[in-house]
Amino acid sequence: MTNKSKIDAAFTGQSDRGIHSEPTYSGALSFLRRRYTKDLGGVDVAVTGIPLDTATTHRPGARFGPRGLREASSNLAWERPYSWDFNPLDRLSVIDYGDCLWDHGRPEMIPTAIEAHIAGILEAGVVPVSLGGDHFLSFPVLRAMAKQHGTLSLIHFDAHSDTWNDAEGEGRVDHGTMFYHAVKEGLVDPARSVQIGLRTHNDDTLGFHVMDGPWVHRNGIDAVIAKTRETVGDHKVYLTFDIDCLDPSFAPGTGTPVCGGLSTAMAMEIMRGLGGLNFVGMDLVEVAPIYDVGEITSLAGATLVYEWLAAYAAGR
Ligand code: MN
Ligand code: MN
Repeated sequence: MTNKSKIDAAFTGQSDRGIHSEPTYSGALSFLRRRYTKDLGGVDVAVTGIPLDTATTHRPGARFGPRGLREASSNLAWERPYSWDFNPLDRLSVIDYGDCLWDHGRPEMIPTAIEAHIAGILEAGVVPVSLGGDHFLSFPVLRAMAKQHGTLSLIHFDAHSDTWNDAEGEGRVDHGTMFYHAVKEGLVDPARSVQIGLRTHNDDTLGFHVMDGPWVHRNGIDAVIAKTRETVGDHKVYLTFDIDCLDPSFAPGTGTPVCGGLSTAMAMEIMRGLGGLNFVGMDLVEVAPIYDVGEITSLAGATLVYEWLAAYAAGR
């Protein structure tokens, strides 16, 4: 190996598998030092940024989430996730596919751009991992996913239900209502889906199995895992992780923080308990680095994506 190929693995890496070890504090950023490429040939998982934050109801800034997650991931890329006995980066070819592009002067075109971006990944037979961006992005992503896979199960980590009723606002959808539309459009089947960590009021569950924040704290990690596995079964499942599922003490860098959430460690343990489910994709959303402290939110987010990669690889 030449000296030149020991740095900037995002561009100089010789393989899509294994650890790319280079100084954590320097080098070209990509998620987990994966190859930065638009070539999907032979790839298992494509990580892609969706830098959107115009559907948020409170603080903007999640458009910088993909960058923050890539940066934080550089300090994870030198070893496998601690609690797994294999490295998902050995088992899977994972690349950084770069970000989704749209014209911010044509905001009405953004959902179509996101859906087409994800559809392009799916058409290549590759599993998409989306880095947000505000949570609205899950809606066009799920439209693409459902076209490929049919109605999906959803594992939804969040402080918010994101199923608030939008029926009276014709044609509107934001980052708190997109799963209302996802159910109404038949993209997800709430009877086979769970919501974990909620702690905001919404009387209409739409039929989702809800394990709210207090329930998670009282019943514990093993109960969450058991209920999730029982509900999802072997159905095709998409996992969406809104970082505000974590308590603001663990994830201050987000747009709509709510007290009483999960710790990073609890979320990691739950993710480890989901290994081998029939995953078809995931996203991690609502990281807004400008409100972060010491990179703890971005680090938590990047870590949870890495844990998910292991949970996905465990089934293959
Ligand atoms: Mn939320
Ligand atoms: Mn959300």
